[in-house]
Amino acid sequence: ETSFESGGERSGITNRSSKVLLKGMRYDELEKWVHSHGYRPGQALMLWKRIYGNGIWAHHSDQLEGLNKDFKKMLSESAEFKALALKQVITAADGTRKILFTLEDGLVIETVVIPSVASDSRSRNTVCVSSQVGCAMNCQFCYTGRMGLRRNLTAAEIVEQAVFARSLFTSEVGDITNVVFMGMGEPLQNIDNVLKAADIMLHDQGLYFSPRKVTVSTSGLVPQMRRFLKESNCALAVSLNATTDEVFTFILFELANHMYMWIEEHTCTHSHGGITFAQTSHLQVRNWIMPINRKYKLDLLLQTLREELRFKNNYKVLFEYVMLAGINDNVEDAKRLADLVQGIPCKINLLSFNPHSGSQFRPTSEEKMVEFRNLLAELGCRVFLRSSRGDDQMAACGQLGNPDVVQAPL
Ligand code: SF4
Repeated sequence: ETSFESGGERSGITNRSSKVLLKGMRYDELEKWVHSHGYRPGQALMLWKRIYGNGIWAHHSDQLEGLNKDFKKMLSESAEFKALALKQVITAADGTRKILFTLEDGLVIETVVIPSVASDSRSRNTVCVSSQVGCAMNCQFCYTGRMGLRRNLTAAEIVEQAVFARSLFTSEVGDITNVVFMGMGEPLQNIDNVLKAADIMLHDQGLYFSPRKVTVSTSGLVPQMRRFLKESNCALAVSLNATTDEVFTFILFELANHMYMWIEEHTCTHSHGGITFAQTSHLQVRNWIMPINRKYKLDLLLQTLREELRFKNNYKVLFEYVMLAGINDNVEDAKRLADLVQGIPCKINLLSFNPHSGSQFRPTSEEKMVEFRNLLAELGCRVFLRSSRGDDQMAACGQLGNPDVVQAPL
C-alpha cells in the first residue's frame, strides 16, 4: 500500500565515508561544528560565504581562498563539499535546461532551470528542485508518479541543486531569483529536509533567496501543510486539479468510454468529433487523479488553508490546476472552483497538461483554457494561464523522472 506519510529516513549529516556534509547544515549548526573543531565563528562565516556566495560556490577545499591553512586542512579531512555529481545538462528549444545529477548511492535526480522570458525588471530565472527520488503520491497525470518512491533527498542534496543552478547558469541567463519545489517528489513528505533546505537557501550571507520567491508545492498532505504554514514564511503552492471528490467517477469514466467504443464499433456510427462520454458526464474526481485525496479530502484541505492563513499577514496560497481535456475543464468546474476557494487569499495558475508516453489524458485546448480563465476571473478569482516550458525535453511540469535513469542500482 502506498504510504503518504513517510519517505524513508536518511540522516543527511554525513556521507558514506563519514565526512560531514557542509550543505546539510544550517548556519548555526555549521558554526557549532566549526567551533567543535577548535575554530572561531568568524571562520564559519567565511566558509559559509565561500560555499554559497556569488561567484565562488566552492565545491572543494582548494577553492577557499583567504581561509587559514589549518582550517582548510581540517575541512579537506573531515568535510564533504559536494552532495551531487553533475551527470548531464539537456537544453530544450525554449532555453529551459534539465540537469541530471547522480547521487552518492547511484540514483539519479532531475532539476530544471527555467530562464525568464522577460528581459526587464520583472525578469525572473527559476530553478525547480527535486525533493525525493521518485514519488509515492501516484498522481495520474504525472510521469514521476509512475516511478514510485525510492527515497527522500537530504537537505544537502536539495540545497546543492540551487547552488549548481546558480554556478552553472548565472553567467548565461542572469541571477537565479526563484526556487520552486516542484521537481520530483512530494516535498511535504520530506518536510524536515525541505524546511531545512529552504532555511539554508534564505540565509542573508549565503544564497539569500527571498522567502516569497521560494515556493514549496504539495499535493495536499494536510498535517504537514499545517506544520509548513506554521514554521515557514516561504510560499505554498497546492496542486488542486479537480473540484470534486466523488469515489465512483473513475469507474463511470471507464465504463462510459468502454460503452462508447463498443457502440462505435458495433453500430458503425460516425465519430462525434472525438467527444467521449467522460467529457459530457460532468463527473470529476480528485480521488482518481490524485489518490492522496482519498486520505485528505478537498473540504479538509481547503478548510485547513482557510484556518491557517488567518494567522499569516499578506500571504496568498497558489493553487495549481492542470487542465485535462474532458476531465476537469468544463464550466461547472470553473464555477465549483471559484466557490471552493472562497475565503482563501489565493492566486490560481491554470497549467496546460504535458503529455508523456502512456498517459491517458489529453491537454485542454488553448481556447478552452482561455474561456475557463475568463470565467474564473468574472467570478472574482485572481487567475493566470501559465505556458509550458521545456516540454520537448521532458523538462516540463509532471514530466520529470525517466524511469530508465532513476532506477540505477543502489
Ligand atoms: Fe508526486 Fe508531484 Fe507527481 Fe503528484 S504531481 S506524483 S506529488 S511529483
